[in-house]
Amino acid sequence: MRLGLFGGTFNPIHLGHLRAGVEVREAFNLDRLLLIPSARPPHKSTDENVAGAKDRLDMVRQAVKGVPYLEASDVELARSGPSYTIETLRYFQNDSGHNSAIYFIVGLDAFSEITTWKSYRQLFATADFIVMTRPGSKLKNLSSFIHTHISKEYQYESASNRYHHPGWYSIFCLNITHLDISATQIRKRIRQGRSIRFLVPDTIDGFIKKKGLYR
Ligand code: ATP
Repeated sequence: MRLGLFGGTFNPIHLGHLRAGVEVREAFNLDRLLLIPSARPPHKSTDENVAGAKDRLDMVRQAVKGVPYLEASDVELARSGPSYTIETLRYFQNDSGHNSAIYFIVGLDAFSEITTWKSYRQLFATADFIVMTRPGSKLKNLSSFIHTHISKEYQYESASNRYHHPGWYSIFCLNITHLDISATQIRKRIRQGRSIRFLVPDTIDGFIKKKGLYR
């Protein structure tokens, strides 16, 4: 079983997330790809207008409905306390069989802030990473970032486009189609009374309107 875990605030989920999920699933031949909304994102401040966890999970559920291989996961909502990725990875590590490969999927922008995540070095001793490139990212030199902040022992292998470590898991890189969409931009448009059509699935547009989110 090849399992992809795609964590995020999904505030709200948009076509950038969904297209990324489809491309990663295809490139890594994943059997399942779980989108995991954070219940209590440790890094988001209250002034960012974070919708309730249940609403964000419901939006993820609706967005992936009928999409093969993409699923919504409520593991972080089922847990109390802040939503730390290390706990989510350990949960899936314990839950899946020995023959499973677990890939944690993250955009380059989020990866560049990984040093602020709880027990971040442990993450690389727990699962493979897939780092997706995204427009506007500030992290120019991935090699030096990995060597400075994660481990000097990571070596780049161009054939597989990954950083390999003798004792830890790999960090794979994947170029995905750049859809320059962010949840921040969507929330701003809603506040301004502008359309978000074709930035999110129509069902999500409808859900946001019905619930009056982000106004
Ligand atoms: P915000 O603007 O509120 O920070 P966001 O749009 O970046 O939100 P998140 O839920 O914070 O979305 O991101 C979850 C994950 O999805 C992160 O790893 C992020 O890098 C990735 N991601 C976000 N937007 C895109 C996009 N347009 N294409 C590919 N990946 C994306």
